[in-house]
Amino acid sequence: MMARAKTKKDLKSLDKPALEEFLMRNEGIPSFRAGQLLHWMYKKNVASIEEITEFSKNLRESLSQKAFISTLKVKETLSSTDGTQKYLFELEDGNFVESVLIPSDEDQEADEKAQTKTSRLTLCISSQVGCTVGCRFCLTGRLGFIRDLEAWEIVEQVLSVQRLIAPRQITNIVFMGMGEPLNNLENVAVALERLTEFAHFSKRRITLSTAGIVPSIMELPGKAPMVNLAVSLNAATDETRSLIMPINRRYGISSLMQALRQFPLARRGRITFEYVLLGGINDSVADARRLVKLLHGIPSKVNLIPFNRHEGTDFRTPPVQSVLAFQKTLTDSGCTAIIRKSKGADILAACGQLKAKYEPKK
Ligand code: SF4
Repeated sequence: MMARAKTKKDLKSLDKPALEEFLMRNEGIPSFRAGQLLHWMYKKNVASIEEITEFSKNLRESLSQKAFISTLKVKETLSSTDGTQKYLFELEDGNFVESVLIPSDEDQEADEKAQTKTSRLTLCISSQVGCTVGCRFCLTGRLGFIRDLEAWEIVEQVLSVQRLIAPRQITNIVFMGMGEPLNNLENVAVALERLTEFAHFSKRRITLSTAGIVPSIMELPGKAPMVNLAVSLNAATDETRSLIMPINRRYGISSLMQALRQFPLARRGRITFEYVLLGGINDSVADARRLVKLLHGIPSKVNLIPFNRHEGTDFRTPPVQSVLAFQKTLTDSGCTAIIRKSKGADILAACGQLKAKYEPKK
């Protein structure tokens, strides 16, 4: 793949004007062909130029001499007994990232009074190799930071998994895998544009999850309007949050909340707050009350995620009674709070656990 990349153009690295220019210069063909090519690459999801049967054989052969369609190599796939699947991708430079496919058949948010059952197939994707943020409960954070993913590497996680699971369809995409997407905002914004404009994913079904990079949250509406935002909050006081998430020392809770209060939401849109419950750290009823106060006035829902204890951490799984009491405190105060079961525990589907088996290449 490396040799090919050096001599030929990766068509997935080009935006529409660049693709039009490339096709005109190299093949002398009109600009509408670029639209066809984008449709075949992103919507029909072909993995090679040879598969684009709308193009003549001559054109396919000629184009294949000068260009290729990049794909990611699947190094390993793991399936959980609960239906979760984890994909480890090997990148061209020998690094690895992972995506997790999570099926769910749940009330379309038990909170919404809508009792319709929907089947979701959510793909959790990565935006960086490693991460600089260093959340203490996360194995990716411990790996350190290697590099940002290119836009095509982000998009290709979705397209590769879609090819593997067809005819099933990915219904939702969440940027909750390895990396902090708002620390790679330029490439993430390009990836979002391609996923929505060319692969036709609805923005309403895409969620960016951030540890709370305040300046980028403020930039986000201009760069990727109307995608959903999730914030990994995990504590309602600076003291506890800084202990769990060192990034809080840089962007404290009050500046984070101020940015979120100004964040433009779609009609009936809400900000999702992720709250990993760590036994004895942030799972008391007093913590829940503080959280209620903090979220007052923000259209929101809270995902409560009981910590899944893994090797190499001192954090504890919270007792079931604490989790239920925490949720009750929130719901009694009018907050929407859903307990999210950890999926794929038997295949180490939590952030960074599979990749931790492989040495990162600096
Ligand atoms: S939880 Fe997310 S932001 Fe925090 S260290 Fe892990 S990958 Fe980075």
